[in-house]
Amino acid sequence: MRISFHGAAGGVTGSCHLLALNGRNILVDCGMFQGGRELHEENAGPFGFDAAAIDVLLLTHAHLDHCGRIPLLVKRGFTGEIICTAPTRDLARLVLLDSARLLEEDARRRRHHGEPDAPLYDTVEALDSLDRFGRVAEYGRPVDLGHGTAATFHDAGHILGSSSIALDVTEKGRTRRIVFSGDIGPRERPLLNPPEPPAGADVVVMESTYGDRDHRTLADTVAEFHAAIRRAHARGGNVVIPTFALERAQELLYYIRQGTASGMVPPSMQVFLDSPMAISATQLFRRHHEALKPEIATLLAGGQDPFGLPDLHFTRDASDSMALNRIRSGAVIMAGSGMCTGGRIRHHLRHNLGHRDCSIIFVGFAAEGTLARTIIDGAASVKLLGDEIPVRAHIHTINGFSAHAGRSDLVGWHQRTGRPEVTFLVHGEAKAREALAPALAPARVELPALHSVHEL
Ligand code: ZN
Repeated sequence: MRISFHGAAGGVTGSCHLLALNGRNILVDCGMFQGGRELHEENAGPFGFDAAAIDVLLLTHAHLDHCGRIPLLVKRGFTGEIICTAPTRDLARLVLLDSARLLEEDARRRRHHGEPDAPLYDTVEALDSLDRFGRVAEYGRPVDLGHGTAATFHDAGHILGSSSIALDVTEKGRTRRIVFSGDIGPRERPLLNPPEPPAGADVVVMESTYGDRDHRTLADTVAEFHAAIRRAHARGGNVVIPTFALERAQELLYYIRQGTASGMVPPSMQVFLDSPMAISATQLFRRHHEALKPEIATLLAGGQDPFGLPDLHFTRDASDSMALNRIRSGAVIMAGSGMCTGGRIRHHLRHNLGHRDCSIIFVGFAAEGTLARTIIDGAASVKLLGDEIPVRAHIHTINGFSAHAGRSDLVGWHQRTGRPEVTFLVHGEAKAREALAPALAPARVELPALHSVHEL
């Protein structure tokens, strides 16, 4: 049996791991490398294996850095079955179609500048790849992959439908369990159940994003968020929140609802979710309430809406989104992208950033080089849609929200997998995974390099 790593090996994006055994090739995730123009070349480059030779793709969750190269895999000859949970399948559909649209726009822009460039894949190719989604996995119920192999999906508590996957493989009369963590959520989450690590692992492939640090507690972070909204509201202008569409947007709606109920947030605010993808994702939360915490599922089953607010508006149409530009005060506007690299948030920043009574609340990670990072770092003005806009609005940064487990939760998760012979740390920058490795003792820990191959 051989395992090889074709993404998220030395970085946090592009997850793609290949297990070869009994003449079969099982791929776990096929994600996009994210972060800039040079990574476009990396995505367009060879996978490091023959796409046509892959029999099965197991998908841990629907984030782009785990599913984003699926249409490319299909384009290059993959004809096997994609297996994931039902919420992951539905979210991946949203994510892949959105990704194709963005890739097409990007290619159009490049052509406009005289650079001939085809998109990595287009909408038709993304739609084609959806045909490869086959059986749906339920948490805790093994899925037979044939040839002495079965996969069991376990709740990873990271985003709706996210999974860790235990592969039980029998080779030459010996059965072993290989566990892929996927992305692991923190134990404290408002909507999702805590992660359930698969036990009895012989080999573990594990994420290490926050292997070097713990987060602030959730209660402190929510209190900080409520206080930021209160202060922003008192200032009189609008509140703009750049947000990721999956999970974070739904969590923020839930926190605002909680805050209104407890009096920590003024009830009179108009709240706008200005993101078609976040709106669709919110509908999927309602459809898949079996994947949510029991108390949230009970609310939904009882006809109550955990995301409902008295003055909440979902603005799907571009014309409704543009109408928000005329509102001068009292509105909370949530829009993507979370790092302000594109999307409707740029229009809202253009109309609000220059006003002293407005506030911008950043609630997520902002990578170097992104517009969000530039504003957080204190730029006096930023270029937005062709105009130089002075930064006069009040800037809040809230760091405690995370869809990833902090160091202590990662160590606890690993302990519950048993006593693996070897643990491969992936999905982490060098600093994070090097810091996590000694904390997993006595396990033998490997830090695989991109495209490295390891005999098991
Ligand atoms: Zn993820």
